[in-house]
Amino acid sequence: MPVVHTEIAEHIERLVGNEAIVRLYREWLDAAPADDLPAFESFDPAARPSEAGNLMVIEPEETSLLYVFYGQRIANATGFDMTGRRTSDFDGEIAAFAEQKYRATLESRRPLYLVANASSASAVVSWERLIMPVRRADGTPVIVCYSVPLVRKAEVLDGLMEASTDGIAVLQPVRGMDGTIADFRYLMINKRAGEILHRDTDSLIGALVTTVFQEAQNRLPIYREVMETGIPRQFEIDSEVDGEPRSFRLSAVRAGDKVLVTLADITEMRRMMEQLERQQTDLQFANDTLHDQAADLVTLVETIEQARTDALSAERFVAELMEAVPIPLFYWNLDGTLRRANRHYAAVYGHTTGSIVGKRPEDILPPHVAKFLREQNAKLIEGGDSQTYEGDVEVPGRGRRRFVVHRALMRDLEDRPVGIAGAMLDLTEEYSLRQELERLASTDPMTGLYNRRVFMERLEERATQFERYGTPVSLVILDVDHFKSVNDTYGHDFGDTVLVGLARLLRDKVRQGIDLVARFGGEEFVLLLPETQGPAAARMAERLRAAFAEFAFDHASGPKRFSASFGIAELTRGEDVTGLLKRADDALYRSKHEGRNRVSLAEPPSDRQMCSAG
Ligand code: GH3
Ligand code: MG
Ligand code: MG
Repeated sequence: MPVVHTEIAEHIERLVGNEAIVRLYREWLDAAPADDLPAFESFDPAARPSEAGNLMVIEPEETSLLYVFYGQRIANATGFDMTGRRTSDFDGEIAAFAEQKYRATLESRRPLYLVANASSASAVVSWERLIMPVRRADGTPVIVCYSVPLVRKAEVLDGLMEASTDGIAVLQPVRGMDGTIADFRYLMINKRAGEILHRDTDSLIGALVTTVFQEAQNRLPIYREVMETGIPRQFEIDSEVDGEPRSFRLSAVRAGDKVLVTLADITEMRRMMEQLERQQTDLQFANDTLHDQAADLVTLVETIEQARTDALSAERFVAELMEAVPIPLFYWNLDGTLRRANRHYAAVYGHTTGSIVGKRPEDILPPHVAKFLREQNAKLIEGGDSQTYEGDVEVPGRGRRRFVVHRALMRDLEDRPVGIAGAMLDLTEEYSLRQELERLASTDPMTGLYNRRVFMERLEERATQFERYGTPVSLVILDVDHFKSVNDTYGHDFGDTVLVGLARLLRDKVRQGIDLVARFGGEEFVLLLPETQGPAAARMAERLRAAFAEFAFDHASGPKRFSASFGIAELTRGEDVTGLLKRADDALYRSKHEGRNRVSLAEPPSDRQMCSAG
């Protein structure tokens, strides 16, 4: 057992609460001469009858201390009288500790206040002491010690028992004739135990456990075992108190030849535990729900994050795709600003991508293009989904280029227009090729004049206009005279030269941009003369006839002249182009028949002709 103590050497009068000790200490100070110890007589127990019971007188010897006086009250508390005995008669920590402190006061020549444990055998837990060094008349130093029990065990036990929230019962074994434990008797019982057991504590003292509680019979083996083995046991029992089911926890410990039983009513605790368990289940459920929700949130966040990444990569994909496609691409916002464009688009107008994104058409494009674009945008937003148009652009460094522009209205998920996207296809080469093909398809390769197909188309158009507006139109057909003999006489090549020469002559002599000259086939040509009536057409034909007849073609054998015969007809109301052609052809035939190198104007169609045409 450790020696717990308090030790005070200075300011005892201020620090110690025990009045008797403080009074004694003051007396010691008053009695002590300068530089010496007070006289023993002043503190002799014989001279202090009221305090003598608490005083000890101890004389130092060579190796020990001798108790020359041992107060009665001290002896009562410790249970033995030390008078005439020496500290050396005892061993142990407490004795050694006390001896050391006594000697220390002789050394320091000052009183010492000490609180220390008592020996375990004592009924006192701890002592409070004032150790005072004094001097006998013969000069020998001696110790007078005032000693009061600070804590008594019985008081502590009673206090503990009454203060305990657990029920405490001390049981004494009752042995049978054969010496075995037959039962236990209540020896002590605290208030709480009385409450728990619903019994008057006084009525229990001395009673046998099994007579008080029938079912205690079951607990006897446990108490017996605790008695025999000294190993504490704890167990729970369910019992009924005043018809109410209650639960108790019992602990049995051996204390000397008795058994100490503590009782705790754990009914409430059990109920609370059960409630806690239920709450825990609820909590667990709530926790699981939360956990699930958290997991959902995480998934949601991940999804958003993924969508964001996807959107970013989609954005990048679009940007990269736009750059990778070798075609000018653009995307206009509805407010007219340029949202996106690739470098090919920027290059068409002599810019860089960075300098045009966010700009308006007026900032980027030539004024007429910007204006055109605005109009097209309005049209597209107004009613179309897409549009295509063609146009030429003067591209810096590349000259005039022909573009076909495809544009489409972009819509959001709710189908609202959000912009206009499109591409510009550079069809410059294809366009000129197409033009060439068209030219080839519509012209006669040898003379460069329009061919029969084109002529017939234009004739149809004019016929329609005549039907609608009455605009007159006349037709001239001419055929080279005796051309077979030209070939025969001068060769086929020379014949070609004549045809080419005639073609040039005809083209030069007609009204430019109004009249149409075509090779109808072989050495036969036709002229379409819009807004021209028959007689005027005949006059024109006459001029042509004369010019050709006078024209001299170079030949090795000298200049050669040729002639052609003409037939003219003016389209009349109700007549179709076949009828017109037929009449012109008839007129030509007449010119041939009447001697060639002449012009004949066809008469208006007869009723019979009209009927057959209709
Ligand atoms: P007519 O006065 O009655 O018209 O007599 P013609 O000899 O012109 O009669 P016909 O119309 O029968 O003969 C036309 C000739 O023109 C026949 C053909 O060989 C020739 N010819 C047709 N096309 C060409 C051509 O492209 N080049 C040459 N050199 N001759 C052609
Ligand atoms: Mg002919
Ligand atoms: Mg001919």
